[in-house]
Amino acid sequence: MEEAALNCLRNTFGYSDFRSQQGEIIQTLINGKDAVVLMPTGGGKSLCYQIPCLVRNGTGIIISPLIALMHDQVAALKQLGVKAAFLNSTLDAYTIQQTEHDMVSGKLDMLYVAPERLTTSRFLNLLKKAKISLFAIDEAHCVSQWGHDFRPDYIQLSLLHEQFPDVPRIALTATADERTRTEIKQRLALQTAREFISSFDRPNICYRVTETQNNARSALLRFIHNEHENDSGIVYCLSRKKVESTASWLTEKGFTALPYHAGLPAQLREKHQHRFLNEDAVIIVATIAFGMGIDKPDVRFVAHLNLPKSIEAYYQETGRGGRDGQPADAWMAYGLQDVVTLKQMMAASQADEQHKRIERHKLETMLGFTEITSCRRQALLDYFGEVLSRPCGNCDNCLTPAETWDATLVAQKALSCVHRTGQRFGVNYLIDVLTGKDNDRVKQFGHDNLGVFSVGKEFDAGQWRSIFRQLISRNLLTVDLEGHGSLRLTEQCRPVLRGETTLLLRKESKSANSLRKGRRPNRNDQVSNKQLWQALRDCRKTLAEENGVPPYIIFHDATLVEMVERQPSNRQQFLQLSGVGKSKLEKYADAFLNVINDHIDTEKHDLADTISESLLLFRSGLDIDAVASKRKLKISTIYSHLASCIERGEIKLNEVIDLNPDEITAIHEALLSHDDGSKKLKPVYDMLDGMYDYDIIRCVQAAVLPH
Ligand code: ADP
Ligand code: ZN
Repeated sequence: MEEAALNCLRNTFGYSDFRSQQGEIIQTLINGKDAVVLMPTGGGKSLCYQIPCLVRNGTGIIISPLIALMHDQVAALKQLGVKAAFLNSTLDAYTIQQTEHDMVSGKLDMLYVAPERLTTSRFLNLLKKAKISLFAIDEAHCVSQWGHDFRPDYIQLSLLHEQFPDVPRIALTATADERTRTEIKQRLALQTAREFISSFDRPNICYRVTETQNNARSALLRFIHNEHENDSGIVYCLSRKKVESTASWLTEKGFTALPYHAGLPAQLREKHQHRFLNEDAVIIVATIAFGMGIDKPDVRFVAHLNLPKSIEAYYQETGRGGRDGQPADAWMAYGLQDVVTLKQMMAASQADEQHKRIERHKLETMLGFTEITSCRRQALLDYFGEVLSRPCGNCDNCLTPAETWDATLVAQKALSCVHRTGQRFGVNYLIDVLTGKDNDRVKQFGHDNLGVFSVGKEFDAGQWRSIFRQLISRNLLTVDLEGHGSLRLTEQCRPVLRGETTLLLRKESKSANSLRKGRRPNRNDQVSNKQLWQALRDCRKTLAEENGVPPYIIFHDATLVEMVERQPSNRQQFLQLSGVGKSKLEKYADAFLNVINDHIDTEKHDLADTISESLLLFRSGLDIDAVASKRKLKISTIYSHLASCIERGEIKLNEVIDLNPDEITAIHEALLSHDDGSKKLKPVYDMLDGMYDYDIIRCVQAAVLPH
């Protein structure tokens, strides 16, 4: 049995090993038992039911509420040679009938259906005529009324257990909390199912938070420009207006950026989503609604131009990056205005007291997250009840440790200023008073006579905004309920005012946007051979267009990266690549192998060209130094060119180097005593006590050793 699952993983999907708990989950289903699976986005949930569907007899029924996702998965499965289909409202009557017929006559390995169709009595009767291998309930948190994605149709799915007690079931979700999990088990009658809970860590995502003063957009531009020039990404904004303006601004700057929000016509939204999925390097600028039901694996960055409302929202949105396991960035810019706006929204909320309290708590936690100076991943996982024992090394705070400073005295000045001016003014006015601006307004209120007037001249307005932001985030100050933006003192500020505690604030570094060295290279830096990489991407794009599927359905980036690194030259080597199974080998190996071979040929040609040019110049009478400076190459490069010529007999050793026969013999002997086929020069160099340069040894080697 176990063997069957592993064979399927290797032959059909082209992966060599199971990830974390996949193997166990799959085995549970193959053995006919139920499972509840909690795995983060990108963790590899699909394989958990797809492989049992293929190993067990009959058709596997996968219940999914997301039409776009069904479509994508079925397209991907077909590429793998799997007999998969879906049923949803987008199909015409004939196709539906045909698909139902295929299911009943046992022609399908997998069938994806929407929950509302599954629970009709007509469909249930069809199911009874068919042989069913398992039921997979994807997005199982939709059964929970507690969560945000509740779908009434999901409640009825308990009938699967009643009507098909012998068919194993698996419920899957990426939603973490305990309460939802309990509801899933209860409502779907899965109390006795085995539970598999994976870590929620997404190690390939680098979390970064940048504080900005009204210039979040330029920070975003720098970030994309420097690190994600040719990548797909999502930029989240809070309002439709900001979505529109950001998208057109990025377009002006030369990027392909498309807006997406609920106010756009459905057709346009669909078009933009389609382009995002099918083209390279498209940036979607969206309100938070975008992303649900899209599993584009190669989203390389998720940027927030506003503060998300909660850690849950932040984690879900950033989780849409890097599903393929390759490096991705979760980047956020926020400033004082965000903090004020969100606090006001919260205050104005119509929700009942209990809900308001929850919302407030969530926002406060989010603010706390942005301001921390310790590892962000540890904080995130801690929020979800997981312990990461060491700092992650892949977040901004780990990579560029934040500095703090003792701000007790400064905070006292700010807090007294709020107090002395009567808790009636907003940040800008307070800063005017602190920095001693005797403008009309300040004079009118007579605040130029206060003791706090002009006591904060050591900071400029920008620095004060950062200080106020942190004071609000830490709840030492609060924003008024009426929405005028005036600040008030809170209970928590008393110990600071009295000097009973020390307040450490974060020092804003000017370069918060860029990370110091030590950062993981992003994928584009990682790929060693840009030309080949681009050629492979082009090949993938052509094949995708021919097949009418998104490029990542042909091959993931990870597979292309491996092609660049390993440069397979035949089908057998091609099959070793991760993500290449039998079906894709048949379909695509030749096309990609051709690209790789062409590339190797061109490289050889280029090399041959550059070598003969060096030889020509050398022959024309220039010495090696002169050839190097004329060609703007290193001297050792010219030596290596000439060594190749020596090796091929195009020039004699003594024409290149000036050594007497004894010296040549000495080097020759040293070479022979280290001739292990590796052609390594260092041991030879050492043996000769560094008397001869590597360049010289290389030329002698070319002349005397068999090639
Ligand atoms: P989820 O549904 O949990 O978000 P997916 O099922 O879409 O995640 O899987 C995420 C990515 O990981 C996919 O690209 C998938 O092909 C890949 N993947 C899953 N399992 C493995 C594995 N065992 N080895 C290599 N890649 C895998
Ligand atoms: Zn970290």
